Amino acid sequence: MLSIVPLGCYGSDLENKKCISMLVTPSTVIDTGSIMSSLDTNQLLGIKHIIITHSHFDHIKNLPIFADFMLSLGNHSFTVYTTENIMAQIMGNIFNDLIWPDFTKLPTKKNPTIKFRPINFDKPFSIEGIEFLPIEVNHVVESLGFIIKHNNEAIAYSGDTGICQNFVDHVNRDPSIKTICWETSFPDRLEKLATASKHLTPSQLAGELAKINHPCSIHTFHLKPNLEDEIIADIKKIESPMKITPMKQKRPITVS
Ligand SMILES: [Zn+2]
Ligand SMILES: [Zn+2]
Repeated sequence: MLSIVPLGCYGSDLENKKCISMLVTPSTVIDTGSIMSSLDTNQLLGIKHIIITHSHFDHIKNLPIFADFMLSLGNHSFTVYTTENIMAQIMGNIFNDLIWPDFTKLPTKKNPTIKFRPINFDKPFSIEGIEFLPIEVNHVVESLGFIIKHNNEAIAYSGDTGICQNFVDHVNRDPSIKTICWETSFPDRLEKLATASKHLTPSQLAGELAKINHPCSIHTFHLKPNLEDEIIADIKKIESPMKITPMKQKRPITVS
């Protein structure tokens, strides 16, 4: 059964609220905001596939430490799936032998800790039988959402995005999508900030939901942890036939 376990589902870190990491299988995770503090050593060793939605710090935060962990435990490697552009941003700014070593050359260039698998918008790829369709979403840097499919089940995952017709169009084209994880970062009071940073408020999410042509369960995530109560109060005011549930860490999102 297709499910996503949110290890961290917030737009920042605060107390036990953690940055984004979504476990799709025991070996596959979307983003690395919080894997090091959420998984034990054996679970971390099982991570073989890391999908990165974009280069923002809250999504790549644990990638350097995870690479160091894998290298130091022996000849362990893993694959990073993202676009050429996003990988170049991460390599040039983090794994640049200044901020952190280049783990695509360690321990050896031939057999490195980080292997890179380039992915492209609208070109599906599979990991262990699960299909991921990368979708270009509307954020301040190049950013990916996904349609995630297994057998006849499908989940749409928005990544970090503002108002995005491309994401809506992909959901509308595929009636097998019954579950949507949709970012809702800021309360309605901070709409200007949400718009400038290309995130969503609950009112803007309501506008997006009105464009969806078939019923879905909505799971909101990437809430700013210090504003969670205010955002959830705004979410409760949304008038929509769709069920909207704020995501909770460790509570699996399943297909409904
Ligand atoms: Zn983010
Ligand atoms: Zn972002």
